[in-house]
Amino acid sequence: LSQLFRPLDLLGMVYRTIRQGAIDMGAMFDLIDTPSEVVDTPAAPDLLVTRGAVRFENVVFGYDKGATILKGIDLDVPAGTTCAVVGPSGAGKSTLARLMYRFYDVNEGRITIDGQDIAGVTQASLRAAIGIVPQDTVLFNDTIGYNIAYGRAGADQAAIEQAARGAAIAGFIERQADGYATRVGERGLKLSGGEKQRVAIARTLLKDPPLLILDEATSALDSRTEAEIMETLEAIERGRTTIVIAHRLSTIVNADQIVVLEAGRVVERGSHADLLAAGGLYAEMWARQAQEQEEALAVE
Ligand code: ADP
Ligand code: MG
Repeated sequence: LSQLFRPLDLLGMVYRTIRQGAIDMGAMFDLIDTPSEVVDTPAAPDLLVTRGAVRFENVVFGYDKGATILKGIDLDVPAGTTCAVVGPSGAGKSTLARLMYRFYDVNEGRITIDGQDIAGVTQASLRAAIGIVPQDTVLFNDTIGYNIAYGRAGADQAAIEQAARGAAIAGFIERQADGYATRVGERGLKLSGGEKQRVAIARTLLKDPPLLILDEATSALDSRTEAEIMETLEAIERGRTTIVIAHRLSTIVNADQIVVLEAGRVVERGSHADLLAAGGLYAEMWARQAQEQEEALAVE
């Protein structure tokens, strides 16, 4: 039955947003981004997640004709494993995440989940199976409780609070005069980037999906909060297929595989140890970050 309500949820959300004129429409479309070309084929079946294996097969994609962003990506993420994607800014990491959530359709190749091409299943079933913590979280102009509960329609207060604790945002919420009923957004409480990210993490904890995409999920957090949340993220990654896009390499050393993306191509892949030994781009990025960290410590 919950499947049936999902499209209605989305409509309700769009309606709410328009009615309240509340959030920036550009930002809104970043979140639910359903460009007109992404449509369900007639009689498309729902995605059936059995184990959660994800594959990218020769994926080619560009936002505009003429500018190819991803130039033939192959990824094999076995069920329940973590694949980290790293690389310079602009390499195409977030684009890869957006394609898996099917914000856009690929130009060539395909993405499969348990052997099913994601372009051939309903978008609602695909998105129900994936939890995404995006780089920039957009909150609805509603209560903070609503913003967390958005992860799962009909969640009760106890579950919302548990998710908030897991995302290290419960204390912050409890300190607000109206607690979970505190309004956020343009006409309410302004949250910092880190606080918004924690709301997104709470939403994902509540959603409890078999597949997870974390796009620099801790990038806006200070290092103490990051350490606090890393434990939670590691716990939710366990047993789930996870694609984690990381800026700070120290957060992904234990990933089952690390893929290095540069200018839309996979230039290296392997474990942390493999890539250090290879002495390529990853090793270079690692050395640079280690040095930056040392310098930061020296300043303190
Ligand atoms: P990364 O996450 O690795 O920093 P992105 O995937 O965000 O990189 O971006 C890859 C490239 O695609 C960049 O050159 C960026 O400018 C371009 N790009 C990203 N989003 C869009 C968009 N919505 N329209 C057009 N180009 C885009
Ligand atoms: Mg990015």
